[in-house]
Amino acid sequence: MKGSIIGEKYKLGETIGSGAFGKVRIATDIQTTCEVAVKILVREKMKIKKMEERVYREIEILRLLSHPHIIRLYEVIDTPKEIYLVMEYANKGDLLKYILGKGILQEEEARKIFQQIISGVEHCHENNVVHRDLKPDNLLLDSERNVKITDFGLSNIMSDGQGLNTRCGSPDYVAPEVISGGFYEGPPIDVWGCGVILYFLLCGTLPFVADENRSLFKKITDGIYTLPSHLSPEVKDLISKMLERNPFERIEIPKIRQHQWFQAHLPRLELIEAI
Ligand code: ADP
Ligand code: MG
Repeated sequence: MKGSIIGEKYKLGETIGSGAFGKVRIATDIQTTCEVAVKILVREKMKIKKMEERVYREIEILRLLSHPHIIRLYEVIDTPKEIYLVMEYANKGDLLKYILGKGILQEEEARKIFQQIISGVEHCHENNVVHRDLKPDNLLLDSERNVKITDFGLSNIMSDGQGLNTRCGSPDYVAPEVISGGFYEGPPIDVWGCGVILYFLLCGTLPFVADENRSLFKKITDGIYTLPSHLSPEVKDLISKMLERNPFERIEIPKIRQHQWFQAHLPRLELIEAI
């Protein structure tokens, strides 16, 4: 497969990730020599898992969104066996690998990453898209360590006034109201996911840990976690407001933006956007 040409335009290179339906590979635009990432979706695998709808939704959503902190979809190449999503290449890999390689982040670096995540998630919500699978391996870093949110395979487009009811997302990052079942509002579950991510960036561990899902879900729904003493009081306050069990009392993105910890060292663009 390496070295083969797709769409008469891109030369496939090494594998940089493996996804649920196939691999993600780096590729070169033959004409411009620019590097791109290609998510290869194997039709056979999609059919077996009845996941075609998920893939088409991912494409639809990526086409809808346009933001510096959301991965750009350049084009879709459709062949009888595979679908290729040609995307912007984030050459520093995903945030999970970054943290596992580097260890915990200082609050300064975590804040910059967190500000960018919130800015991208806010853009999703403004376009009635809820990501629903926010976690470090779906957050990529470009050459300047800027965040690019990716993997909209579990995302959903919200209709006004309608809640969501699909149980999805990764167990470690799932909000209590999703575990309880029934209808839930979209945006608060992304806020919860961002709260778990912020905790992970600063602590190197997850707030809720258990050997198996049943006890994990119990800890999440009971809201049992501890905030290590090395964290500043400001960030402890923000995390506790994001990991609020009751989705109606959970902090919302405009209030996260106004929070003292978020406001420090805010880039100029963000200041303008926040007005
Ligand atoms: P899945 O839906 O199967 O989780 P993802 O879209 O999350 O697939 O891609 C899987 C992995 O591939 C990511 O966690 C990341 O490490 C890598 N990856 C995906 N897209 C890119 C990209 N545009 N640039 C760099 N790495 C990427
Ligand atoms: Mg993923």
